[in-house]
Amino acid sequence: MLIQKCKKCSNQFTWKEVIRPIWVSWTYSPLKCPKCNTEHCINISTKIFIFLGIIAPTAIKGFMFSRNAQTVLRISLGRQLLIYLFWFVLLGCLTPFFARHHIKE
Ligand SMILES: [Zn+2]
Repeated sequence: MLIQKCKKCSNQFTWKEVIRPIWVSWTYSPLKCPKCNTEHCINISTKIFIFLGIIAPTAIKGFMFSRNAQTVLRISLGRQLLIYLFWFVLLGCLTPFFARHHIKE
């Protein structure tokens, strides 16, 4: 998977350009092509994917944070939180590779 290009002029967006409106400002503000100024809006599928990525660990939290998980997997609570944090950082860093945008109408 590669970072998306501008739909109009094929300018290659950078990792930084794509990640900013999603994770830094949390606004999903349009991604503006620095070359042709075309505004790109994030696809709804990307929003859903990010949302699922965020709730996935919480969904299995019931298992992860249960006493059972701690004894079966022998993972301490502190380490579980570390895994959780690692997951978020990983998800954040990989976002530009699967995020897809369309030209704003
Ligand atoms: Zn462009």
